[in-house]
Order: sequence, then structure tokens, then C-alpha cells
Amino acid sequence: MANLELTTDIKFLKGVGPRRGEALASHGIDSVGKLLYYFPRRYIDRSEAASIGSLKEGDYKTIVGKVRTKGLLYGGKRRLELILGDETGDIQLLWFVGWRFLEKQFKKGDELAVTGTVKYFQGLQMVHPEFEFIGDDSAEQIHTGRIVPIYPGTAELGKVGLTSRSFRKLISLAMSQLETGINEYLPEKLLASSKFMPLVEAIRQIHFPENAEICEMARQRLAFDELLYVQYLLQSRRRKFKAQVKSNPCRQPGKKFNDILENLPFKLTAGQKQSLKEIVEDMTSIKPMNRMLQGDVGSGKTVVAILAAVLAVENGGQAAVMVPTEILAGQHFAGWREKLEKVGISSRLLIGSIKGAAKKEIATALKAGQVDILFGTHAIIGKSVEFANLSLMIIDEQHRFGVMQRGRLAKKGDLPDRLVMTATPIPRTLSMTLYGDLDLSTIPDKPPGRKPVKTVWRRASKVGDIYKYIDTELNKKNQVFIIYPLVEKSEKLDLQAAEDGYKELTETILPHRKIGLVHGRIKADERDAIIKKFHDRELEILVATTVIEVGIDIPGATILVIQHAERFGLSQLHQMRGRVGRGDRPGLAIAIAYDPISDTGRQRLEYFASTSDGFKIAEADLQLRGPGEFFGTRQHGLPGFRVANPITDQDLLTVARQWAIEIHNNRSDDSDDKISLLNHAALFSNFDPSFAEIA
Ligand code: ADP
Ligand code: MG
Repeated sequence: MANLELTTDIKFLKGVGPRRGEALASHGIDSVGKLLYYFPRRYIDRSEAASIGSLKEGDYKTIVGKVRTKGLLYGGKRRLELILGDETGDIQLLWFVGWRFLEKQFKKGDELAVTGTVKYFQGLQMVHPEFEFIGDDSAEQIHTGRIVPIYPGTAELGKVGLTSRSFRKLISLAMSQLETGINEYLPEKLLASSKFMPLVEAIRQIHFPENAEICEMARQRLAFDELLYVQYLLQSRRRKFKAQVKSNPCRQPGKKFNDILENLPFKLTAGQKQSLKEIVEDMTSIKPMNRMLQGDVGSGKTVVAILAAVLAVENGGQAAVMVPTEILAGQHFAGWREKLEKVGISSRLLIGSIKGAAKKEIATALKAGQVDILFGTHAIIGKSVEFANLSLMIIDEQHRFGVMQRGRLAKKGDLPDRLVMTATPIPRTLSMTLYGDLDLSTIPDKPPGRKPVKTVWRRASKVGDIYKYIDTELNKKNQVFIIYPLVEKSEKLDLQAAEDGYKELTETILPHRKIGLVHGRIKADERDAIIKKFHDRELEILVATTVIEVGIDIPGATILVIQHAERFGLSQLHQMRGRVGRGDRPGLAIAIAYDPISDTGRQRLEYFASTSDGFKIAEADLQLRGPGEFFGTRQHGLPGFRVANPITDQDLLTVARQWAIEIHNNRSDDSDDKISLLNHAALFSNFDPSFAEIA
């Protein structure tokens, strides 16, 4: 078939046909272009493969060799045997399971890369090794070079014979017929200044790399394209957002704002002042605010947010403060209601446990404009909740909310200003990707006099000693948090563990102490009452599940015990640590780990104990877990990157961002490079253009 184009239906590529075409299409590969952008999952470097003659029992190695013989063995357990050989020797490969299917896959002369553990039984063997087809002896063999690409496969693709080997053949064919159809869209200037590989070359090299260095250059070029596209979409979103016009921007701060500010029991830190200034600038501008306020636990974001809310109210608007837990909502409300009332601002609390008539009463007052600031959980985005004039929305611990939830709150007002807050310091590169459309304010400092929380980790065998130590500390009027993990998957068991722990403490370990228990299954009002008791020092120890992880403020709490610390992520551990040492006494965190503790688990705890900088913690957390787990992809609506790694490709990301801004600034919507960028991206990006819409 002549004249292939990127858009040509995949079934017309020689060697595909209707059956394979359908299988490919169901994997998103419906055109020849999409096939070219189906990149290898990994590579096998032949020169790094072990020679068969050098294998020893117990080795875990990759070898490359040819199938010398194939046969089913019947004596004993039925099994498939391949003898694989290279110039240095032979090895036996065995499959006891799946042989019926596998038998048909292999033929004499196939070249395989095989990875597994070497055993010895009347000779060298590997049982159930991983394998990849590299090539075969038959006519149509394509030169694969030293580095062999391995494509992501599925059972469905396998069924129609689409193995890595066949992908190589198809892609090589498509490439040879299509090279002139792939247009470079990056300008010379950028290609030259950033030393990017030209697009055609990058696509060829990512499939059939000459060597590892060139392969990495190809990956970088394509990663750049991916990052550029995402940055382009983010910039589109930002521009769309900022093109809107508020009907009533705020005037400069007035009496109420200044009254609250002057009556604070402390002076704002430099970081708080700067952030507040940026927020006030946004709120007094005619363009809507879309800002993220970032600051480590305890840096004092709340007061900044409250002052912003006061400014909104002063200008005739209403503000909503949405937080992820009822406890935190209650605490914000309890902490601010009176102070706000003093300057004539009315506030209310709306959480899930407020229902029926009580809820209706709040909703009615809110709609009538009698409530100025509404504190609450996601209950405030419920259908029945309507504002008279929502002009500012504040979302605390924003990564706990989804994009949709943010959008739903925004729709309750007429273009409200948006302020989202996070205590999880996000490494800049990642925040450029996740929140590239937001303006960023940072509180880098902490209120004066804060001492870092001393942190240690201990094995569970030391629990007895730890409680003895705690008993002596309680004599000195220190208060103690004991935290148990709670995750959805094992919620029942987790609750049980917290309850058992509580029981043991009250009945046998520290029966003479005043101990409370809170967790998510306890009714909100009871829970709040218990926390209040702890706050007022009527309780000495509070046993809690992770409900207290975010936000709550108990000045007298100085010791934090984290049970099953091996089950928490670094950022989570750090957040919890922020709960103690908030008063004038230094804090102590004791992480207790239970066996089995993995190597990474131990590493994590060591790091936690040795580092108090939330920013470094977040970076390490990212390195250890990757961005998906760090935030939970589902929550922030960020689909995976295919080539780029937004953490390690920092330099590329920076260039991509600058260039995306330049494209927006200098080019009309129908300019060629804009259109080529979009066409090109459509071939491979997991991101779709709706990413550019404002949520
Ligand atoms: P976070 O940024 O973690 O939300 P908070 O807003 O809860 O922090 O503040 C933590 C504690 O620090 C609160 O008790 C708050 O009253 C206090 N605080 C905030 N700003 C200051 C300041 N400038 N000086 C002293 N204490 C402050
Ligand atoms: Mg907070």
C-alpha cells in the first residue's frame, strides 16, 4: 500500500488486516500514526545479557539465545521444554503451567531474551522464566540492533499474534513508508537552542535505538513534546479563567479587616504578610483570583485565609471555607466565630452530620445573606446549599478534594475568587504540572519560637518502655496523641486496632490516666466533645485514627505516638507530626513500627526521624512513591504521562512551560505550529483537550 498517512486506518497497514486491526483499535491504536506513537515499555540490551556458559546456580540473569529444540515432556508432571543456546552453551527452560498455549508460540530458530533464576538439576535450567521474542530465522527478519525494544502487550493482543516481535515489524514497516509524513513543528530556534532531536529521528530512535544514549535523547525529545502539550493546555485554562471579569472586585481592606488583624494575639510572619498582599491584590483586581497558598503544617495559613474571607465580606460578599474533615471544620469554626462576631461578621458551620431542620435553617439563612462565612466539609457543595452572593471560596488541604468538587463549589457563586491551600509542600516541578494554571503564594517561614519536633522511631518490642516514659511525661502536664492508621480497604480491622489499643491502655497499661478515643465512626458531636475535652486538658491522652491527621490544633499536646508507622507515607507522617509542639513546649514524635518492615519502610522511617523540613519530606515522598500514589491520580484528575516524568524531567518541564507561554503569547489560534502541536499530541497524549477547560 502506497501513500500511508498518519491518519490511515491501522487495518490498511500490511500485516494487520481486520482482526488485528480491531484488537489494536481496542487498545487505542486505530491509525498508523497511533502505532508509531506506541512506544516501547522497556529495552533489552543484548550486550548486557549474560552468556549462557557463564551462568551459575542461583544467578538471576537475562540471557539471549536461540531455540535449539522444543518438546513436551511426559514423564512425571507434564511440561514444555525448550533448549536455548548461544555460542557459549545451552540451558533448559521449563514450563509446567500454560504449556499448551506456549507450545504453539515457540519454534526452532526463534531468538529469545529470557530472564529468570538459574537452577541446577542434571544441568542448568530456568523454570517459568520471563521471555521476549527478539527475532527469528525466517525470511522477513528486521535488523534489531544491540538494543531491542519491548512493547507493552496484553493477552488480547497476544491472541492475534501481536507480540513485541510483531510490533517491531509493523512499526518498522510503517516507519519506512511514512517518514515524510511526520512533520517537525518545533521551530528551528528551539530545536537548536535546546539540542532537541528532530521529531522523525526521535520516533525512529525510540523504537530502534542505535545505542542507549541516543535512545535517551529520543525519549527526551518526545517527553518534551508531551510536557509542552500539557503546559499548553494549562496555559489555555489559565487564560480562559483570567479572561473572565468580576462584576464587583473588592475595594482595599477596611475597618473589619484591620480590626481582626490588629487584635490577633501575634504578629503575622513575613511569609503570611506577603501571601496576604498577593491575595488582596487578586481580590481587588477585576480578574478572578485562582491562587494556591502553600505552607508547611503550622505555618499559619488559616489566619491568612480568614483575613481574605473578611475582605470578601466587607465588600458585600459571602465566603465559604471547605475542609476535608468535620473535626477540622469544627475547629476552624470554633476558633473564629467569636472573633468574627465582634466585628459584625456572622459565621456558621455546615457538616454532614447536620441534617434535617438544622441544616435547612442554615441553608435558609445562607440564601438570605444572613450568613457571611460558611465553614464546612463537602456538605457545603450539596444541592440544597445556595448562597446569596458567594464571592470567595477557600479550600483547605485542597489535594483531598477532586477537581469536580472544586468546580461545584465555584458554581455556587458568580465567578467567586478561589483560594486553595495545601500543607503538603509540592515540589515545584510537580506543582507546575498539577497546578500550572494557578498562581502560587508560599509561606516559607514559621511563626517565631517554634522548635522542630524531635522524632524517633522504635520497634514494637519497645512499646512497654514507651508507655512508661509517657506516664512520667504526663506527670509534667504534657498531653499525648496516640494515632492508629485507618485506610478504607481495611477500615474494620483498623478501627478494631484503635479500639483494642484504647481498651488496653485504659484497662491495663495506664488505667489511672484520663484517656479519650475518637475515630470516624463516632458521631460528630460526640467526637467534637471529646476533642474539646482534650483541648481543655480534661483528657491526658487522645487515642485517634488518622482523622486528626489534618489541621486540628491542640496547644498542650507535646507527644505524638504513631502506631504502625510503617503503614504511613512520609508526607502523612509529617502532617501528623505537625499536631504536636504547637504551643511553647517542644514536641516529640515516636513512630512505632511493627514487623515485617520492608527496606523502603525502614528508609522512610529513618528519613522521617532525621528530617523536619516539610519540603524535603515531600520530595523524598515523591521519589519513594511516584506522583501517582503521592496524590492519588483519581483525585487530582491527572492522567499518567507516557514518556515524560514530571519529577525527573525538571529541565524539560521548565523549557516546555516557557515555550507554551510563548506559543500562547505570539500565535493566533489557527497558526500552523499551534495546530501541529495539537495534531501531534492527539496521537499520543493521555491528556485530552478538555484538560484545558475550567472546572
Ligand atoms: P496551618 O498552616 O498548618 O494551617 P494554622 O493556621 O493552623 O497552620 O496555624 C498553626 C498555629 O499557629 C495556630 O495555633 C495559629 O494560631 C498560630 N499562628 C498562626 N500565625 C502565627 C503567627 N504569625 N505567630 C504566632 N502564631 C501563629
Ligand atoms: Mg491548616
